[in-house]
Amino acid sequence: MFNINKIRQDFPALHQEVYGKPLIYFDNAATTQKPKAVIDVVNEMNSKTNGNIHRAFHYLGNLCTERYEAARETIRRYLNAAKKEEIIFTSGTTAGINMLAFSFGERYVHTGDEIIISEAEHHSNIVPWQLLCERKDASLKILPVHDDGRLAVEKLPELITSRTRLICVAQASNVLGIRNPVKEIIAIAHAHGVPVMIDGAQGAVHGGIDIQDVDGDFYVFSGHKLYGPTGTGVLYGKEKYLAELPPYQGGGEMIDTVSFERTTYAGLPLKFEAGTPNYTGAYGLKTAIDYLEQTGWDNIHQQETSLVNYAMQRLQEIDGVHVYGAAQPKTSLLAFGINGIHPSDIALLMDKTGIAVRAGHLCAQPLMRRFGVQGMLRFSFSFYNTKEEIDTAITALIKAKQLLA
Ligand code: PMP
Repeated sequence: MFNINKIRQDFPALHQEVYGKPLIYFDNAATTQKPKAVIDVVNEMNSKTNGNIHRAFHYLGNLCTERYEAARETIRRYLNAAKKEEIIFTSGTTAGINMLAFSFGERYVHTGDEIIISEAEHHSNIVPWQLLCERKDASLKILPVHDDGRLAVEKLPELITSRTRLICVAQASNVLGIRNPVKEIIAIAHAHGVPVMIDGAQGAVHGGIDIQDVDGDFYVFSGHKLYGPTGTGVLYGKEKYLAELPPYQGGGEMIDTVSFERTTYAGLPLKFEAGTPNYTGAYGLKTAIDYLEQTGWDNIHQQETSLVNYAMQRLQEIDGVHVYGAAQPKTSLLAFGINGIHPSDIALLMDKTGIAVRAGHLCAQPLMRRFGVQGMLRFSFSFYNTKEEIDTAITALIKAKQLLA
């Protein structure tokens, strides 16, 4: 049974005041607060059970190695990946995309080739591909967005050419909250022999993906958005690709043999995990996924859907409010504007009443241009939020609007 009071007790950060007001945290798409189970396990590993992994002949090193590999198995299961070797730990979505852009680019992208991304991507899924295109004299092509926020997937077949090497799209938009039809996109791409990378930053936190079902070739996400520690993340890749890609970084653990003449590399996944990885964080991330599974994904979805629907209804009661991206299905966030008022001014006033919301370009300047605005306001909900918090935020929003009008 989902007991919101009990759930909220699991998150210490929710029980604090800012500027003398109880915190209302509606910036969950940026990062989520951590359950006590995650905080405790990370504390325990830092205060007691710390030993560097993989090369140890001692108890602590072995314990941390076991935990790190257990985390890999949990993530394999969470994504329904075929093999543990396909799960590469990274420091986050951005790190995973940059790693892929380098390694995939070195192996498969040449002068005149093309990469397709969408108009609704986060800067992290734009700039690494631009850098790759600059390095390789390749070009970036853009899948447009409809007025209601849907990707114009029907235009994808005509965008794909014999030079298309990779298509990179978000599982869900961090601005509009719309869940993209990734299975359909992948099917179109595969019909043309093109692999697809899914940016799962805003999808992993809403139940993840069945990567074999959608037949995704690469998938990236960040642990800190999935109630895990900062500095954690994953790059999933199909073994047939990862085995072919050159390493991104060189160093300890990613080698098989080293001599000054020639180095041979370790197999998967270690080939892509040079140096001491964030094994403490990885185990924290595993603990977060365990916690979410115990809470129940159905319960989480139900709570988050009821919050986002309620917020939509309350926002529409306010004069001059415009919610962007009407298309469904949505995750649990809403981006909106208020006629004649700068989003940052509202966010700053709300902050002073203890309410954390996001405002600005939301790391998606091309999408802001698409909608003809400089910025938006965003409320993003977690299952630990409540309708009472939404009511308080709406009252604060109305007051801020009156003050600024
Ligand atoms: N892609 C999307 C869709 C995101 O929402 C974010 C984070 N806002 C990122 C990429 C980048 O994630 P990180 O900063 O954790 O690397």
